[in-house]
This record gives sequence, structure tokens and C-alpha cells, in this order.
Amino acid sequence: MLFNFLTYNKFKFRKWDKYSLEERAYAFQKLEIIQAKKLHRPVANVVFREMDEKMKGQFVPGKNIILMNKMFITEDMLRFDGMFTLFHEGRHAFQHHVCFDGVEDGLFSRARKWRKNFGGYISGANGDEFSFYAMQPIERDANKYALQRLKSFRFRFGEDRYYNATVSFEERCFYDDKFRAREELGFFYKHKIAKRQKEEYERYNY
Ligand SMILES: [Zn+2]
Repeated sequence: MLFNFLTYNKFKFRKWDKYSLEERAYAFQKLEIIQAKKLHRPVANVVFREMDEKMKGQFVPGKNIILMNKMFITEDMLRFDGMFTLFHEGRHAFQHHVCFDGVEDGLFSRARKWRKNFGGYISGANGDEFSFYAMQPIERDANKYALQRLKSFRFRFGEDRYYNATVSFEERCFYDDKFRAREELGFFYKHKIAKRQKEEYERYNY
């Protein structure tokens, strides 16, 4: 805990720039270990892979793996985008943990809401469903968490223009998603999304 800053500092350009791909991947793994501890959940294995650039990462629950796009270790300027992605996917690991490892229960718990969402996940594969995808509870929570975490580093990386660009971008996306949902789905968008989740659930369970 005391030495978390040693891991964070690895992302400073003067260090990052000299690291091999393995060392960069290891820095992300160390960051995941810190995250897991903060969220009181098992540590996931961070695995980098060639993926389409639209695909940033993915949490694979059965294997407890966080798959990450390899571009985050090959492109210097994407390392904070990689950080955001790691926090986002790590939050899904946490959601999964509280939903299915018997950590939280109760009628009004967030776990209940998340469990419903996992059961009726909206993949957004149809293209015109971006608002449904982005505003469903587990995605919204993961983005909110990742943004908060990334912003908490402003005193450490505030001088780095890629850090600032990533924070501004993600911040804008976070607010735009909500405005877009209101525009496309109306004021009761949350209700519409919940209904859509139920349809997804029924499609796979009946
Ligand atoms: Zn997600």
C-alpha cells in the first residue's frame, strides 16, 4: 500500500518510454493488483492481445482474466486510455464478485440491480443501440468508477498532455452519453433500459 506510488510512477513518460512491452504489461498487472486490493476482490490476470481498435478490453469472468488491447502497451500516447480501460474492466470484475460470490445481497442492493443487468446484458451489437448499451447499470457504473480513478491522478500526471486529453475525452463521453440517452430515449430512459434488459433476459432464458 505504502509503495503504490512506485507502480503509478511507471506510467510517467520518462520511465514508460524506456520500458519493453513486457515491462509495460507488468506495470498494468501491478496496477490491477492495487485495484483488486482497493475493491476487496480477487486479482485478475491481465492479458494483452491484438484486437480491433474499437475493442479496448474485456473482463472474462470464468477465468478471471482482463483482456486488454495490445495497443495500450505499444502506443505511448494510449497508456492513460489503457489505465481507464483497466479500471473499467476491473470494475466489472468487482461487480461480478459482489453479484455472484455471495458478497452482497438484499432487495435494494446494487448487487441485485447489477445481477439483473448481467442476466439481461445489452451488447449494443446492433449499432443503433448505443444509448441502451452505455447507460445500462453495469456499464455506467464501470465508466463512472474508471473516470473517478483516472481523475484521482491529476496531481501525479497533470503535466502530461496525453493524461489531460484522456481525462477530458472520457469526461465528455460520460456526460454526452447521458444527454444522448435523454434525447434518444426520453426522460424516462432508465425505465426503458430496464425494460430492454428484461427482454434480453427473456430471449436467453425461455
Ligand atoms: Zn464495460
